[in-house]
Amino acid sequence: MYNGLCERCVWSKEIRSDRGSLFTLCTRGLTDPAWPKYPRLPVLQCTGFEAGPLRIIFLDVADAPGAPIPGAVSTLNRLVAESGARLIVIGADEVQNWLEEHRAEAPARSFVILTTRSLPDTVPRDLSDRAIRMDVTRGLTGEQAAAALAILDSVL
Ligand code: SF4
Repeated sequence: MYNGLCERCVWSKEIRSDRGSLFTLCTRGLTDPAWPKYPRLPVLQCTGFEAGPLRIIFLDVADAPGAPIPGAVSTLNRLVAESGARLIVIGADEVQNWLEEHRAEAPARSFVILTTRSLPDTVPRDLSDRAIRMDVTRGLTGEQAAAALAILDSVL
């Protein structure tokens, strides 16, 4: 579920209930009694917002031939809108470097790699577990978009 600004606010914390459902707790309310404990989601404007880690979609389509497939582009656009993630076009072998280089100013809360290539065995497990291989002729499918959202929901 996309929580708006809370997604990447330092004050937000994901809590899992005994029954397994996930909800967002605004921890600002723990120290400021005047602050709403359970903000109405998604929060689109908030005076208490302080930027925290990002959700990131790394898109690697370097070896995809020709023009993008319209249906796949709209599926990707929907994924970006629903997840609130930042989209970064990159080669899959540059992801690790990007995460390290941007750790200070754009730390990742979670990420997914959408790629048209099979990743080499040398790619670390924590990256390959977050990669989804797209068919070059079909692009991102609806099922893959749902899987990508689930990966983005799993915080690092
Ligand atoms: S301070 Fe605002 S944006 Fe941040 S978690 Fe609380 S309600 Fe969400």
